[in-house]
Amino acid sequence: EVHLSTKNLSYTYPDGTHALKNINMDIYKGQKVAIMGPNGAGKSTLFSHFNGLTEPTSGHVEVDGKAIKYDRDTLLEVRQKVGIVFQDPNDQLFAPTVKEDVAFGPMNLGLDYEEVERRVDEALTMVGMEQYMDKTPHHLSGGQQKRVAIAGIIAMRPEIMILDEPTAGLDPEGVEKVLDILDNLNKEGMSIVISSHDIEMVNEFAEKIFVLNNGEILESGDKHEIFSNK
Ligand code: ADP
Ligand code: ADP
Repeated sequence: EVHLSTKNLSYTYPDGTHALKNINMDIYKGQKVAIMGPNGAGKSTLFSHFNGLTEPTSGHVEVDGKAIKYDRDTLLEVRQKVGIVFQDPNDQLFAPTVKEDVAFGPMNLGLDYEEVERRVDEALTMVGMEQYMDKTPHHLSGGQQKRVAIAGIIAMRPEIMILDEPTAGLDPEGVEKVLDILDNLNKEGMSIVISSHDIEMVNEFAEKIFVLNNGEILESGDKHEIFSNK
């Protein structure tokens, strides 16, 4: 069953840069997907379409077979289903404590205090950061910050999680921790899409790979197909 898809998606920035050219992509429920490609390939631009942050120049994006519309109500619904973890935790972590940071999303969903607490505890436990609840995010290591940023999205209980370079800059132990978290979320049924340059990591993580270059899909397939050509 297709969970997230793009149909002839193209996007041109106001300065005329054609960042995405006719992208057709199907991501299935429960799939682990990696988008690979060099800097400037269009990965961030693509991700910003997945939760409706950016509206296509042409074509469209579908969640659960329904084209995203860009009215307030539809966008709220889409952003609840599709959670995005940005590359730089500093773009995401801004509250004085870890706990407050992770609580921000669920509070915005209008959940009551006890439900927010429950979700914060659960999300921080899932990423192994529960003992850092009262710490300041900026005093944590890069890997710990990444795990807190992931917890903030987990606490919103999305069905699809998108992560931009989730292991960039982490030491091998940090990489393994993040991959374990993603595997656990996937086992609970979450569809997961990451971008990465790290072939070894993608080979360990992904079932399906799309290679993006210059705004176009160069190739796609399961990891055996993709890596046997190299
Ligand atoms: P990636 O995430 O793969 O590095 P991006 O989606 O950031 O790629 O960029 C795709 C292309 O769009 C690049 O040529 C980049 O320079 C360009 N681009 C990105 N953001 C903007 C912007 N705000 N205005 C104009 N061009 C942009
Ligand atoms: P990434 O590779 O993680 O996408 P980039 O270096 O491509 O990071 O982009 C960093 C920021 O700069 C983004 O907000 C992007 O939109 C913006 N940007 C990238 N290229 C351009 C460009 N040609 N003109 C204006 N803004 C750009």
